[in-house]
Amino acid sequence: MRIDEILSRKRTLSFEVFPPKKKEGEKEKIFSVIDELRSLSPDFISVTYGAGGSNSKNVVEIADYIQNKAGMNALAHITGGPSSPQDVDAVASALKEKGVENVLCLRGDRPQDFSAEYCKYFAHATDLARYLAPYGFTLGAACYPEGHIECETLYDDLVNMKKKEECGAKFFITQLFYDNSYYYRLVNEARRIGIGAPIIPGIMPLVNPKNIRRIKEMCGSAIPLEFRNMIEIYASRPAVMEEIGYNYAVYQIIDLIAKGAPGVHLYVMNNPKTAKAICSRLQSVLHELF
Ligand code: FAD
Repeated sequence: MRIDEILSRKRTLSFEVFPPKKKEGEKEKIFSVIDELRSLSPDFISVTYGAGGSNSKNVVEIADYIQNKAGMNALAHITGGPSSPQDVDAVASALKEKGVENVLCLRGDRPQDFSAEYCKYFAHATDLARYLAPYGFTLGAACYPEGHIECETLYDDLVNMKKKEECGAKFFITQLFYDNSYYYRLVNEARRIGIGAPIIPGIMPLVNPKNIRRIKEMCGSAIPLEFRNMIEIYASRPAVMEEIGYNYAVYQIIDLIAKGAPGVHLYVMNNPKTAKAICSRLQSVLHELF
């Protein structure tokens, strides 16, 4: 089913998985992850795509599994970046053939020393969205509560977000964040400049203190002082850290839903335990909220 249709009727719960690296046996593992996630009745599961398109076959196979074997809605990511139109046609046609209806349209991260030739055809997600239009997918796109790292100002990023909607994005999923006020600011400002598409918050439970620096470097996401204090005090006690991470994510989700978010997208990093831990803690409110 098309994600924009689902969003027009209800709030969505969704998870994100990534294709395994090439190691033997990992493919079976990702299928069993998907089977476990199914028990939580998500509205869709998204599957990420390598920035250079190297894993496109795996993405098609996993999206096919989600859609046709596990009987859920798949959201296949596609990154334009250095791909050629032929590369994009190959993956788009294969997804179409498998009956995948939803695509998250992205540019992908660029290497630090990229040349002008690097993103020759798809310099931005907007170029890819325009290119994919004839395929008839329901397109979604990424957005950034704290602004995309390449953008000088949040306003510039919002203007580009609006272009993504004009190029066909019917919904947005945000970069992960730990301070909900950035999400509320993004939604308010987006509405103010006329962006109407639902903006689904992306939440990644932070259960491993080692990820703090990585998250800061990769996404620039701020970690509120009170949360950071808890992490630093209990960093050497993994069981306590897990509990803190899960509960903080649950707190974020309840607050987001209470204030009108159209759903929640959990970055579960191929770990069904994380998804189950969050959903079980939300159990008493999940039915009411979603
Ligand atoms: P763009 O929309 O092209 O934006 C990149 C920068 O260019 C921004 O600063 C933006 O303001 C600006 N910009 C946008 N459009 C225009 C325009 N038309 N003209 C001028 N400037 C413009 N990466 C992967 O490799 N694989 C994945 O599967 C993946 N999934 C993701 C899912 C989500 C929900 C999110 C939030 C990110 C994901 N990423 C993924 C990371 C993403 O690829 C990077 O953040 C990348 O740097 C930007 O991708 P984008 O699609 O937002 O690019």
